[in-house]
Amino acid sequence: MDNPARFNTEAKPTWCPGCGNFGIQNALKKALRSLDLQPHEVVISSGIGCSGKIPHWINAYGFHGLHGRALPVAAGAKLANHKLVTIAEGGDGDGYSEGMGHFVHACRRNVDITYLVHNNGVYGLTTGQVSPTGDRGFVSSTTPHGALESPFHPLALAIAAGATFVARGFSGDLEGLGELIAAGVRHPGFSFIDVLQVCVSFNPSKSFKWYQERVYNLEDEGHDPTDRMKALEMVFRNDGRLPTGLFYRGSAPTHEEGLPQLSAEPLAVQDVTNIDVTQLMEELV
Ligand code: SF4
Repeated sequence: MDNPARFNTEAKPTWCPGCGNFGIQNALKKALRSLDLQPHEVVISSGIGCSGKIPHWINAYGFHGLHGRALPVAAGAKLANHKLVTIAEGGDGDGYSEGMGHFVHACRRNVDITYLVHNNGVYGLTTGQVSPTGDRGFVSSTTPHGALESPFHPLALAIAAGATFVARGFSGDLEGLGELIAAGVRHPGFSFIDVLQVCVSFNPSKSFKWYQERVYNLEDEGHDPTDRMKALEMVFRNDGRLPTGLFYRGSAPTHEEGLPQLSAEPLAVQDVTNIDVTQLMEELV
């Protein structure tokens, strides 16, 4: 019988009590269980930040990498073993600042990865500097007189860059976020989920209650996720509320489909002992 605790670790998270990362981690585990996956079928790569600790606290293959580099590591893992369910995750600072270039190209490259961004508008691990999704006027240690820049829209960027699964979840909605993650994993190709995350220590004005009063589900309003222009309209809708759910779903060939060498067994298990590389070496050396 399946062990419902199979993705748990003995080590316990050290996040601040009340941090939204707990909800995201639980939603991810819930999604993996709902897909009937086992720990050896999943790899999670992360960047730097409070959220980057997740591979330490989920029992699966994991790689805690460099700042902003969760996506290239995930792509490498997926291409080495395309049978693995591959999750990349990190914070908004990690993914939308240091990792911005990787994010844009992951959207158009369409490797079958599910990317979760824990979006709390602030660099939490380094004690509260404003991030690319922080509000204009946000007072932090790097912006003592208030941030001068406007926050950017990650969902709009993902849609414009060619992503075929673009969604937003909320760390306080375990059920809805778990379903979104499971749908993202099932989606063939790159799936992107921006998660509104509470940081009780460095962005306390956006509390659980603050979000709860504003978030709603697009599905309840009859949103058609196959309509790309409508999805963009919903991203930019400015009525004081925060839509969550699936904004856009399209289809495009995955990166893996264009690689004939992946049509057989994963590269990681192919027998390379009898491959003659003499000609290749002569060309290169
Ligand atoms: Fe969570 Fe913020 Fe604490 Fe980091 S600093 S663990 S994001 S509450």
